[in-house]
Amino acid sequence: MTHVTLEQAIAKVPLAIQSELRTILDQHAVIDSSVITSWLDRLGIDIDTLMIELLPVAAIYARVPISNFYVGAIALGKPKSNSEVDSGNLYFGANMEFVGQALSFSVHGEQSATTNAWLHGETGLQALAINAAPCGYCRQFLYEMATVNQDFVILLKANKAQSEQTYTSNILPYFLPEAFGPADLGLKGGLMETVFHGLETCSTDDVVLAALSAANQSYAPYTKNFAGVALKDSHGNIFTGRYAENAAYNPSMSPMESALTYMNMNKSPQSLFDICDAVLVEVETTISQRPVTEAVLSSISPRVVLRYVPATLSSNK
Ligand SMILES: [Zn+2]
Repeated sequence: MTHVTLEQAIAKVPLAIQSELRTILDQHAVIDSSVITSWLDRLGIDIDTLMIELLPVAAIYARVPISNFYVGAIALGKPKSNSEVDSGNLYFGANMEFVGQALSFSVHGEQSATTNAWLHGETGLQALAINAAPCGYCRQFLYEMATVNQDFVILLKANKAQSEQTYTSNILPYFLPEAFGPADLGLKGGLMETVFHGLETCSTDDVVLAALSAANQSYAPYTKNFAGVALKDSHGNIFTGRYAENAAYNPSMSPMESALTYMNMNKSPQSLFDICDAVLVEVETTISQRPVTEAVLSSISPRVVLRYVPATLSSNK
């Protein structure tokens, strides 16, 4: 997908929701289930179709100075058990590339939408819509999710030249047959499950405590390198990121990539990454997030020095 502006993307969604969508995106790229329910009623379409129609809007969050290839993704969370609406929230995602860094630091749209959902407290996804076929790396990343075998579907926007259909809907095993995942390493559960690792520091600094909270909710079942990053912007807002490990190792997502993703999707589209402070909290084991975090930070905010805080496991645990 090539570049379009926010206004051009919004102009293509149904007129009845344009103004509300614009207001929501000023805050963050998350749409509450109650709003979705009212939009579906108003538009007379189903949730899958709405997700596909919103993809060009998600893609405007892409930061792709290297490829110029704009990917939009939208994750559908689970319905809230105490809610009257049976939809979940929608979480936008988009790809990011970093000039001056190896391509392996890139964040893909599917990772971005999943991270946006996870950091907003979701414990699983019902569906993920995307405007380009998921690459092998993302298929493996998504296979780490604990709920991946519970009716999770991928909605893929159709290539108009090849199909009359607007989109296709398939379960992940369609894209990743004979998969290797957490169960093959003897693990029960997976990514996005609620966890608390009981890490502690003696700091009372608010950015350190935010990074500590993220580390406590990180996912590192293979190395126990529990890690979280917190980034503070020039307005005093703090954005956190959690390490998300993968059974196949390479599709793991660093806490810095996670925090930048969360910052990208929770400010107005294409806002500056005005980072004033950055903290990494981790339990250093056989691996460490420190070199990668420092490298990516130096690409984006060369004047900010990473504050590194080793965490210890609580004596109560
Ligand atoms: Zn991908």
